[in-house]
Amino acid sequence: MSTFVPEGVFPPRRPTTSVNVGGVWLGSDHPIAVQSMTNTPTADVNATVEQIVALVRAGSELVRITVNTEAAAQAVPAIVEELDKRDIRVPIIGDFHFNGHLLLSKYPQCAQSLAKYRINPGNARDERFRMIVEQAVRYEKPVRIGVNGGSLDQQLLTRMMDENRRRARPLPESEIVLEAMVESALQSAALAEECGLSHDRIVLSTKVSGVSELVAVYKRLASRCDYPLHVGLTEAGMGMKGIVASTAGLAVLLAAGIGDTIRVSVTPSPEGDRTEEVRIAQQILQSMGLRAFAPQVISCPGCGRTGSTFFQQMARDIQEYISERLPYWRDSYPGIENLRVAVMGCVVNGPGESKHADIGISLPGISEAPAAPVYADGRLMATLRGEGIVADFKRILEEYVARRYGKQVSRSE
Ligand code: SF4
Repeated sequence: MSTFVPEGVFPPRRPTTSVNVGGVWLGSDHPIAVQSMTNTPTADVNATVEQIVALVRAGSELVRITVNTEAAAQAVPAIVEELDKRDIRVPIIGDFHFNGHLLLSKYPQCAQSLAKYRINPGNARDERFRMIVEQAVRYEKPVRIGVNGGSLDQQLLTRMMDENRRRARPLPESEIVLEAMVESALQSAALAEECGLSHDRIVLSTKVSGVSELVAVYKRLASRCDYPLHVGLTEAGMGMKGIVASTAGLAVLLAAGIGDTIRVSVTPSPEGDRTEEVRIAQQILQSMGLRAFAPQVISCPGCGRTGSTFFQQMARDIQEYISERLPYWRDSYPGIENLRVAVMGCVVNGPGESKHADIGISLPGISEAPAAPVYADGRLMATLRGEGIVADFKRILEEYVARRYGKQVSRSE
């Protein structure tokens, strides 16, 4: 795991129980896991398998699928079997709502194949909730009790609103909504334990679509239980808005030591790539120094000193080169995900930032001598000139990776 976080910057992770989800541990000191959700009809086995494979290859460590119909429940064992055949090892989580109690009872193979059940207590109350938990107990599966601001238990909310109105000084309604979400999660967890589900088989979430509400509700929930928390902004939206809002909410919570597994719920564009949510989640964790997934390129924004697009093109070329080489590097060079490469635009910050990275290049800005010093491990190792700077830097980078991370292979052997 990467340790780029200076000591004392973030408080320690909130202590929790550990929950085993099909071999992936959540909570306590286990790495904060990245999860995702398919958007294919689950009954379409081929399409769902293909999307799960793509999500896993992008780095998703848990994948949730909706189980909303009889056809979907019947498809679950076939999906898990096909993933096994392809040697894709990932816990598959079933997302259940209004009819989950019926589907899990009627399709035992579905209940058995899944690694975890997600229950929304706003959509599966009382007897339905109990019936799902009973299946979890029977098949020894963990559950996530996933409260959502958009489908909050209305009976509970109405009761709490009524109680609030009777107060001498009623609290704002928004406050009661947040408290109702926390109560719904905690009361449901208590009910699940009453039904026989062990304490260490429960994960909680209280997702909302506003960043400040998200922070408020999770801080409150975190202070009142030791269950691992699944954290994410729900219905984050599309494009830049979805990415920024998710990052803002998750970063504040993760910096406070809250969050044991995360999902980024961005809406992909119609022709978009579902795996984007996985890459965003990874990038949030890596940018905060909490985990490392892939080498990072540090590049300056450029300014009037760069004067041309050559610098931007080179930064993009190096990023693309690293992405292309990463599958091979991952197999051959353990620890490669910690590599930091700097591509800088001029002498102002270029040499300094390049020295701080593992390897870096400082391109010449306008009116500088046409030479690009390359630094490795803080020391000048070459000065590049001429048309072939990009190709030369890629060659130097490749040699550096082999020398630095190849040594680790021989040491571990
Ligand atoms: S390093 Fe140079 S080119 Fe890059 S932003 Fe700073 S001053 Fe501008």
